[in-house]
Amino acid sequence: MRIIIVGSEMTPFVKTGGLADVIGALSRELAALGHEVVTFLPLYRALKDKVAAAQCVSNNIRVPLGGRSMVGAIYELQLAERQRVVFVRQDELFDRAGLYGEADRDYVDNAARYLFFSKAVVASIPALRFVPDVLHAHDWQAAFVPLWWSRMLAPAWRLRTVFTIHNLAYQGLFPRDQFDLTNLPADYFGVKGLEFYGQLNLLKAGILYSDVLTAVSQHYAEEIQTKEYGCGLEGLLRSCHGKLHGVLNGADYTAWNPRTDRYITANYDNHSLANKVTCKRALLETLKLPVERAWAPVIGMVSRIVEQKGCDLVAEAVPQIVMMGASLAILGAGDPKLERQLRKLAERYPTRLGLKIGFDEALAHQIEAGADMFLMPSRFEPCGLNQMYSLRYGTVPIVRATGGLADTVEPYNPGTQTGNGFSFDDCTPETMLAAVARALETYRQRQHWVRVIQNAMACDFSWRKSAQQYLSLYQAT
Ligand code: ADP
Repeated sequence: MRIIIVGSEMTPFVKTGGLADVIGALSRELAALGHEVVTFLPLYRALKDKVAAAQCVSNNIRVPLGGRSMVGAIYELQLAERQRVVFVRQDELFDRAGLYGEADRDYVDNAARYLFFSKAVVASIPALRFVPDVLHAHDWQAAFVPLWWSRMLAPAWRLRTVFTIHNLAYQGLFPRDQFDLTNLPADYFGVKGLEFYGQLNLLKAGILYSDVLTAVSQHYAEEIQTKEYGCGLEGLLRSCHGKLHGVLNGADYTAWNPRTDRYITANYDNHSLANKVTCKRALLETLKLPVERAWAPVIGMVSRIVEQKGCDLVAEAVPQIVMMGASLAILGAGDPKLERQLRKLAERYPTRLGLKIGFDEALAHQIEAGADMFLMPSRFEPCGLNQMYSLRYGTVPIVRATGGLADTVEPYNPGTQTGNGFSFDDCTPETMLAAVARALETYRQRQHWVRVIQNAMACDFSWRKSAQQYLSLYQAT
């Protein structure tokens, strides 16, 4: 197949979150499976050095943006066999220090920036020397692509449009007057169109006008049709349920594999778990926790420190977790209030809570390898990556059963010796602590603990599977 993927970030070029990993890995995997892939990205300032080798394909991509006609250029880079990246250049809009904003403030013209990008992608397709079968757009920044395609080229060209929601909490909401930038007839601004409580909602363009709609896990695809998780779009999503599918993201096992990980002290697999204990001792040392307590369980956490991830529940539960005999290794950054709360707890329990506030790739790997358990008490979790990494590292996940966490973590059953972790339903410190207690109890029963670890390490959430699921959605008629 010939596939176009559109998104606002992509590894290895530019990343602020999981979206970049998904676009990078999916593009690579589809090409590896024998398909021809072109991925579109805006040419941000941060990319300019990295793409010096890119070829200019056209410097006259012209699109309407409200009353203006704006011109952009496209540059193409061959990344691998059958895999190209096309950068959309428009310096007035994208030659800036940030991606979406600076100093915690979004750029005020983000609607203009991503409407231009989306329209420019559609306008560029005829210049690609390539007749695509599929146009796959991701998140609100690219959500306008299926709609614009359907207006501009659709009648002449059969092509399937797919739109993926990575996090419904980000919808691309803008004041009503920005609707002019869409250059759509006024009747598109209504409840059945792009209006959302008087504002312009760009995500709705992707939901309404794509042939196939996906969310990044089966559970999340179901949850977003409910009031609790639907962020106001649950009714619309329910009406689209016939075309809505869940496709779990994959884990990048080239970067996250204890057998080859270059950040950890000793490499290991499920036959050499003694080396995992070496990693644990190294982690305790790094976090200035007493190494002589290496016999006791360590619970790891690597996360944005925000309420979505349940960090407030963890902060509340630290004294009990310590009382239950476990230590904690926490890495993250985010909400200053929660960060302060955790810092205070680390001062109160200096030998039991190892904390690093900040972003630290190496330590993230060291926690995955050195901890015994990994805690993810998320309020919502579209897919989640860390639980998949933890499984591969034999670091038993303790998760709230929501979204992708529910799809990947199966509670351990001592009777059948099946399951790869521990989970809980209610979002309270008490239910979380009960799951932690179950995990600690199992940890004390060596035979069961080894079984959970083996079950966890045998799980396979590779990208190949996810790419194959997307392919079957691309191919279905
Ligand atoms: P989300 O995208 O919602 O933040 P995910 O679990 O999908 O959550 O992905 C988070 C990714 O970011 C993981 O790869 C995780 O290891 C990494 N990460 C999060 N916080 C940090 C941090 N402080 N330092 C290093 N890596 C981090």
